[in-house]
Amino acid sequence: MRPNSSRRPLGLALVAVLSALGAPGATSAAGLSARQVADPDYRASDAALQQAIRAPAPGTRARNVILFIGDGMGVSTVTAARIFEGQARGVDGASNRLAFDQLPYAAFSKTYSQDALVTDSANGATALLTGVKTLNGVVSLDGSAKRGDCASAASARVATLAELAKASGLATGVVTTTRLTDATPAAVYAHAPQRNWESDADMPTAARQAGCVDIARQLIEAGPGARPDVVLGGGRGKFTPVEAGGERKDGRDLIDAWRRGSTGRVATPRTGAELSTLDPSATDSLLGIFGSDNLPYAGAISGPEAPPSLTQMTSAAIAVLARKPRGYFLVVEGGNIDKAHHRNDAFHALGETAELSRAVAAAMASVDMTDTLIVVTADHSHGLVISGYPPRSASILGAVPRDDGEARAGDGIVLARALEAATHQGDNPLTTAHARRSDVLVEDRVFRRIELDEDALPVALGSGHLDGRRRQGHAILLQRRGHQVPDHL
Ligand SMILES: [Zn+2]
Repeated sequence: MRPNSSRRPLGLALVAVLSALGAPGATSAAGLSARQVADPDYRASDAALQQAIRAPAPGTRARNVILFIGDGMGVSTVTAARIFEGQARGVDGASNRLAFDQLPYAAFSKTYSQDALVTDSANGATALLTGVKTLNGVVSLDGSAKRGDCASAASARVATLAELAKASGLATGVVTTTRLTDATPAAVYAHAPQRNWESDADMPTAARQAGCVDIARQLIEAGPGARPDVVLGGGRGKFTPVEAGGERKDGRDLIDAWRRGSTGRVATPRTGAELSTLDPSATDSLLGIFGSDNLPYAGAISGPEAPPSLTQMTSAAIAVLARKPRGYFLVVEGGNIDKAHHRNDAFHALGETAELSRAVAAAMASVDMTDTLIVVTADHSHGLVISGYPPRSASILGAVPRDDGEARAGDGIVLARALEAATHQGDNPLTTAHARRSDVLVEDRVFRRIELDEDALPVALGSGHLDGRRRQGHAILLQRRGHQVPDHL
């Protein structure tokens, strides 16, 4: 966790070279014109370089560590989300900066799999949290485990960062927008040869009889000395019995078990409103499960029963953990980025990435950055590509203009005209758009999700589930196929 300050990152080495050449801010250096140094993009880049140069070398040990994981948030998703988030605020997208673009150090990590060319969330999270590469589908066990084989698990167990932190006296927490038993959060606290073993109802009888325990039970039964102090996310069904509307067949209510098994003051909020009234100074242990399955996309539900946003959960987790005497390790997952990518839904994948950026911003604003290490990364990528040569003013969710200069909606109407009609006619543009045109779906007042003409190429194109049938015979097909990746969870 402590970078060696004697080894300068490559980026800073490059900055040093540029500084020696007199490039940053060098208005008097030979060769740079006045127009050049007055150029807004030049100035923005120069300011970023100066900021990087001034960033203090990390020479002290962090007291707290927050690991943000954008699930499936590959580099192209970050680029597209940067544009999306800027355009949603009415500013230029390309030069926009997400919260984590402003962190001073950057690096790439490899989370490759032992048995597959495309990493899944189970192996990806295991790589991040244990340092060990394993098989896809396997949670915090090393590569000697066999997927779905209970007997292989016992000797394959590897410690997670959260477990190591707990053993060192730190508090720990896990926050996610998915089920708390989904692969990424599971890898924080559980060990399983099969990521799908989320509740007892998900497990084969033989595995249960052989002594393997479902992931939800592992969270609760780790005991007060090992389990996380703060747990916020979705997936209530995995923790509650069928008789109470959940999925468990063993009759256990694990939320009740958490309450009974905790020492100190326990809070178990069920809504965002309840979480907002939480008193961190009167909370020792926090378990908030806000939906039966994955949480809805950011902003999709409002009202008194609405779940909290990722940003709200992150802030609440930090407020509770910051009071712990010996520091904390917190994992925050933007899990719905991946869920949207699986549906080939760039609109929500980018919206969820923007929400992750807001959560990072909230964390940066509430912690002391001199004693808290914030890392933002992804477990694996997704097949989102940004295509063609759309004008810079084009919506990242729009279509690339055709050869004749006009992108078209599914019925052949020029797309710009269709959108204009969909958004500006009638008393309520949202409902009239749906009623009048099935191929133009207005998702909100800024962006539109559009069923495009077969020939049209979306600017931001996911490739989780391509419908190859509709793409036959077009030149674009080659480009789409070229970027298709196998499905991964
Ligand atoms: Zn993932």
